[in-house]
Amino acid sequence: MKTKKKKKTIKTIRIDVDKCNGCRACEVICSAFHASPKYSSNNPARSRIRVIRDPIADIYVPVYAGEYAVAECAGRDKYIIDGKEYNECAFCRASCPSRNMFKEPDSGLPLKCDMCESDPTLEKPLCVQWCLNEALIYEVREEDVEEEVKPEELEIGLESLANKFGIQKLSEIISRMSESKKG
Ligand code: SF4
Ligand code: SF4
Repeated sequence: MKTKKKKKTIKTIRIDVDKCNGCRACEVICSAFHASPKYSSNNPARSRIRVIRDPIADIYVPVYAGEYAVAECAGRDKYIIDGKEYNECAFCRASCPSRNMFKEPDSGLPLKCDMCESDPTLEKPLCVQWCLNEALIYEVREEDVEEEVKPEELEIGLESLANKFGIQKLSEIISRMSESKKG
């Protein structure tokens, strides 16, 4: 398999749970941004971020909507934080058949955080901009990744070489190369 190096941009939102005060501004702006038309409503049930809230214990945990899961999990997680036990699946990011989290309330379609994809690109996702407590921190980094060269790209490359040097010359070079690899 032929690969080539490529730069990949990784976008992350770091969540500092200790700074979240449960104000839900992130839910409001996310649902407004994704309303159709944009900003025409702000139903937090349509938000791609949901804040798990326990005001008595002063615990607030923002959770981002992740991938859609076709089937519910066979096993479940239970979290105990500061002595309080949370519902099974409370902090899961998936939209799945076993609960109503991260589902568009009218259509039932799954919701997923898209980092506020828009044209032109926003400087920062809106939930980050609206979080006055800086509980949501936006980070962007570049990583080198190996990417498989698609056969079509190889074909285009070979075609241009054939046009330049002639098919006869090209096949001679390829067979010479393959002989030297065997040896
Ligand atoms: S806007 Fe910030 S502080 Fe308010 S609920 Fe969302 S994450 Fe927490
Ligand atoms: S990054 Fe954008 S889409 Fe994702 S939760 Fe925040 S506001 Fe919603």
